[in-house]
Amino acid sequence: MNTKSRPLWSADDSAELYAINEWGAGYFAIDENGEVAVSSTTENNVKVQASVLDIVRQSRERGLDAPVLIRFEDLLAQQIKRLNEAFRKAIKDSNYQGEYRGVFPIKVNQQCHVIEEIAQVGAPYNHGLEAGSKPELIIALSTLENRDACIVCNGYKDQEFIDLGLQACSMGYKVFFVIETPSELPIILERSRALGIKPMIGARVKLASMVGGHWNATSGDRSIFGLSTAQLIELVDNLKAEDMLDCLQLLHYHLGSQIPNIRDIRTGVLEACQVYMDLVREGACMGYLDLGGGLAVDYDGSKSNYVHSRNYSLDEYCADIVDVLMSTLDPFNIAHPTIVTESGRATVAYSSLLVFNVLDVATYEPGTIPEQIPASENTMIHNLVDLISSANERNIQECYNDAVFYRDELRELFKRGQINLRSRSLAENLFLAVMQRILAIADDMPRGLDEAEKLKEQLSDIYYCNFSLFQSLPDMWAIDQVFPVMPLHRLNEEPTRQAIIADITCDCDGKIDRFADRRGTRKTIALHEQKADEEYYIGAFLVGAYQETLGDLHNLFGDTNVVSIRFNDDGNYEFIHEIEGDSIADVLSYVEYDPRTMQDRFRRNAELAVREGKITAAERLKIMNAFSDSMRGYTYYER
Ligand SMILES: *Cc1c(COP(=O)(O)O)cnc(C)c1O
Repeated sequence: MNTKSRPLWSADDSAELYAINEWGAGYFAIDENGEVAVSSTTENNVKVQASVLDIVRQSRERGLDAPVLIRFEDLLAQQIKRLNEAFRKAIKDSNYQGEYRGVFPIKVNQQCHVIEEIAQVGAPYNHGLEAGSKPELIIALSTLENRDACIVCNGYKDQEFIDLGLQACSMGYKVFFVIETPSELPIILERSRALGIKPMIGARVKLASMVGGHWNATSGDRSIFGLSTAQLIELVDNLKAEDMLDCLQLLHYHLGSQIPNIRDIRTGVLEACQVYMDLVREGACMGYLDLGGGLAVDYDGSKSNYVHSRNYSLDEYCADIVDVLMSTLDPFNIAHPTIVTESGRATVAYSSLLVFNVLDVATYEPGTIPEQIPASENTMIHNLVDLISSANERNIQECYNDAVFYRDELRELFKRGQINLRSRSLAENLFLAVMQRILAIADDMPRGLDEAEKLKEQLSDIYYCNFSLFQSLPDMWAIDQVFPVMPLHRLNEEPTRQAIIADITCDCDGKIDRFADRRGTRKTIALHEQKADEEYYIGAFLVGAYQETLGDLHNLFGDTNVVSIRFNDDGNYEFIHEIEGDSIADVLSYVEYDPRTMQDRFRRNAELAVREGKITAAERLKIMNAFSDSMRGYTYYER
């Protein structure tokens, strides 16, 4: 349905509508051509900007078509820089005596190019990595060159894991083993004796502090990870008995990801601080306080304590942590520890953007309605016709109720065989026409119709788009995560359609029908009418955290194409990495098919068809070529 068209629509109106300046964090905005632009600052402090659509076109010309994931290396670098600079500033402003050492949790985005970039831009800040498994420890050891950066090992650690970590310690790596369960200590002590290498030990505690948001199950007594206070005391006693209390150097906790409320962050630090002080009093060496992850991303731009947002800035986050630490420790003259955080989401979310094109649109516009309705049609059909012309501001509610009544009655008659398919189709069209009329009237009224919002959803378009939610935006499906979604171009034009977005899997859950809004979430998004001769591109933003490896092969849609972009000081950008998405042969082999065997079997069937005279040998060749082209092709819709 058409919303009222205003005489002028500008990029500012689009910016307001999609809240891009709020969630864009200074990285995304709308340029003078009405296209989404990404901007950054290069290593030499030069401000640079590019149209995202231009990147899409360029990448398409290189054979990497939509859906395509664009990684902005500069944004990743900027985020590492912002995080470290913000902590440095807070530390300097308060004259805090410790330092900051960030570690990036590898699980948040394990992609080689991402981790390499983090290690490289993080080096001047001694930014380290957090590893939760053996493969992740191997990634950390082979990627980090800076020996002052920390490697924090969480998760379950077997002998192999521990041996590797201890040997790395002997080479000068700063590897902390964080004890998650009491059973881990004996293995660490035994391997340390066997190898003659002293471990650096951390203890993960369960805090009583609970946090709001999606991931609060990681906090509180029943969280799966960490030691209870009783277990922590036992750990201290065991280390004392072994005369190894000096190995206990780090206290770790993790309240959960995406903590929207700064109060919860303060409460957590406060409780951890008390634990830290008592460990020092017990005689542990300490020196490091690791606050885990949780630094949130403002996905909806509302700057609120809503689950997809955060009610604090990065500067406030750092200042509050330093403030709580100092005001708790100073009265007791406890030395300021090195502050460690494991920010994953906030570090990588901004750097990836998923771009997809619209393939088709289904509207709920009424079809053609004949000028003259035959007198033989049911009276209720005639009544529906009358409603279209008689609806006005005063009787709108009554009209709505009547139309719903007539439609339902006519459907009943159809079920009982009393009207035919043609009449029912006419009835449905008339009903839609009445609803469109009612919406148009309600739009002009200060206090419209109670049902108007719901009606708008029901009559909204479905934009079928070239991507798989399950592969590329799994958290949208699994935990109702909201990501900013908006068109990449035509932003100088008013978007006149209200729509939901459907992906190309055959799954009714494969849709986006919750959109970020400063006042909560909306069920529909405003989009432009598709043009016959032009692709319409939509972006899902801030998808750098957690989405890439959580994605699955639903309907066998594989990894999308990926391009990594880096800006030069002259304002141009380079494609520094290009990764072709999975081919059909790739995804088939993931589920244990052998593409060659499949081709052989199909060839046999084709040969049989030749022998039976259904196709010629020359046709067989064409068919076989089509088959192998498909095997090599992209799993997504190709134009
Ligand atoms: C997942 C995880 C993180 C990352 O949290 P973010 O909220 O993404 O920063 C940090 N530490 C631990 C122990 C985790 O499990």
